[in-house]
Amino acid sequence: MLLKALREEVLEANLELVRRGLVLYTFGNASGIAREQGLVVIKPSGMPYDTMKPEDLVVTDLHGKIIEGSLRPSSDLPTHLILYREFATIGGIAHTHSRAATSWAQAQREIPCFGTTHADYFEGPIPVTKPLSPAQIRSDYEASTGHAIVRRFAKLDPLHFPAVLVAGHAPFCWGRTPTGAAHIAVIVEEIAAMASQTIATNPRAQCISQHLHKKHFRRKHGPESYYGQNK
Ligand SMILES: [Zn+2]
Repeated sequence: MLLKALREEVLEANLELVRRGLVLYTFGNASGIAREQGLVVIKPSGMPYDTMKPEDLVVTDLHGKIIEGSLRPSSDLPTHLILYREFATIGGIAHTHSRAATSWAQAQREIPCFGTTHADYFEGPIPVTKPLSPAQIRSDYEASTGHAIVRRFAKLDPLHFPAVLVAGHAPFCWGRTPTGAAHIAVIVEEIAAMASQTIATNPRAQCISQHLHKKHFRRKHGPESYYGQNK
């Protein structure tokens, strides 16, 4: 069996989405990439999580050719592949329809940074894509979703903005590893829920200052970071 350790990590990332209540039934999917081999491991399509085993996961190349696995890969595979091809620094992706984050995606609103929880993970608002055109939906819908995300990131570093809201759809989240991507999916849901509640509490709530935002982001990211145990 190819990529045993990565299969186990991707399975665990998928299960983490369920444990945290981000996924109902078979919605959602997580994947990971072995950059040296150029191989992606992803959840099979429509398979219940409670019986999923590492050998059920599907291994493909970066163009979607199945290298190992007898099940069909997640139907969102083309979106994942475009993100892996275009965002060279990411190693895992998690996609859910978690309630609060999906509500912002459906509202087609980026999530403003109202507090330091958000600023610890994102250098700015959580971005939202443009809606897909009828032609983009008609031809290769899942790939069009990936291209819409890449267009939105023309001027953004994916590791400084580790998630996007796809307009009218839901969040796609990523990280250096599948575990990291699942972690971001949990955090994005929490940030989205808190932002909704902030606005409900005070419709005129303001974003935090750039000073506070930069302080928190740089504490955890980049050359000046000092948060945690810096291994
Ligand atoms: Zn979806």
